[in-house]
Amino acid sequence: MAFRVLTGELAHETNTFSILRTGLDAFRRGALLTANEIPAARRGTKSSIGATFEAADEFGWSLTHPILAHANPSGLVTDEAFEYFAGLLLAAAPGMDGILLHLHGAMVTESHQDGEGELLRRLRAAVGPNIPIVATLDLHGNITQLMAGNANALIAVRTYPHVDYYERAWQGARLLQRAMLGEVNPRTVIAKRPMLRGLDGGRTQSGPMRDLIDRGEALERDGKALVVSVCAGFTAADIHDIGPSVTVTTDGDDTAGQAIAESFMDHAWQTRDYVSVQHRSVADAVAYAKAGEPGATQPLVIAEVTDNPGSGHYGDATNLLRAMLAADLQNAAFYPIFDPQAVRDAQAIGVGQSGPITLGGKHDIHAGGGPLTVTAHVVALTDGRFQAFGAMAGGVWRNYGLSALLRVGGVEIALISNNAQATDLGQLTSLGVDPTRKATVVVKSAHHFRAAFQPIAREVITCDGGGLGSVILKQGGFVNVRRPIWPLDPIA
Ligand SMILES: [Zn+2]
Repeated sequence: MAFRVLTGELAHETNTFSILRTGLDAFRRGALLTANEIPAARRGTKSSIGATFEAADEFGWSLTHPILAHANPSGLVTDEAFEYFAGLLLAAAPGMDGILLHLHGAMVTESHQDGEGELLRRLRAAVGPNIPIVATLDLHGNITQLMAGNANALIAVRTYPHVDYYERAWQGARLLQRAMLGEVNPRTVIAKRPMLRGLDGGRTQSGPMRDLIDRGEALERDGKALVVSVCAGFTAADIHDIGPSVTVTTDGDDTAGQAIAESFMDHAWQTRDYVSVQHRSVADAVAYAKAGEPGATQPLVIAEVTDNPGSGHYGDATNLLRAMLAADLQNAAFYPIFDPQAVRDAQAIGVGQSGPITLGGKHDIHAGGGPLTVTAHVVALTDGRFQAFGAMAGGVWRNYGLSALLRVGGVEIALISNNAQATDLGQLTSLGVDPTRKATVVVKSAHHFRAAFQPIAREVITCDGGGLGSVILKQGGFVNVRRPIWPLDPIA
């Protein structure tokens, strides 16, 4: 008899400091697919759900897939949206032999600080203790006891930039199949420390995150654990359970799993100060770009890390762009300003025409600078849709909404209507910009840009333009986090 398996994707990284609520309309701008729309859009892609369809074929599962929903990181998920998604999954849960969900781990809703934990709690209550539940996660999840206690296995991605969603989904599918066959009885435990942040923000190139992932994979290979997941956490979340975690899944041996998790978190605690990246000021970054222009055959890539839409920042900070125009940078590209009104203004001016446009700075003038008025030449308008083939995308279609390319002096500026960080060269090439030929390329992103942009760069630098990320870091404003916690409190 074919196993009946419930799957679905529900992913949001919630920046509780953002003033923007995340409702169903925000998910529609990202991705919101139901039932038969999902295989039509995702079969054959190197994505979590793409892997799940392949696994279902291989294992002969009867697959139920009521919902796939992603929204760009932003503020609290509305109760309306959460209850809609949870309701679809819960309605499909009775009678299932197993559940394989693709989640994030840092979703905060209007009513629940731990959105994924609440979802898993309800699913567990619906199916009882004996039906295996496996969830894949982002390594930036703020993982909780509620999640670990209600899932049989938690499998976080092991790369940042995240390029192994597909592999982790396959890992989850294989483990679920073994659990449904009764070959293993996976159980998951968690360890944390009083840390707001750590593990170098999850960077996996080197440092403590790399060390722990390698150690975890060795334990999996040796059969000492079924899964070891290391999560760096997401720092822009004012919630009780913020911070790094390690979860360990064993074949029914909680004691052994806990010992592993604790020893891993000892290392995370000891290395909590470690950071591999130092950000430049706007003035320093622009001066460096100007000095590097002559003879440049590859771009200097400047990542504006504190206005990163991928962390729920507004994506409309103007300080860096203003300085680039003032310095009269040549052959430069800026990606992007998130500003639907400015895109419509560009549309009104028309392709091939010039006119005044006010860009960005519309959410919070204290987060990266206020509106910037320029006289711009409108180079191109697009619908913002294209198929992304970079390492993070796997051939999935993207949608940035009505988009424009402006030229102001020697700087080409991308405007988008759906906020998103720069992760794929297609975000520029679809607008007619060849980033490989630029002297300077600015991307709003903390780290994910590296998968696509590091290979084309002559050098990568990071810049703190004073955006929301900078405001959170410098001013804090945490009231819900558990105390004491490093680095807010002295801990011996
Ligand atoms: Zn992440």
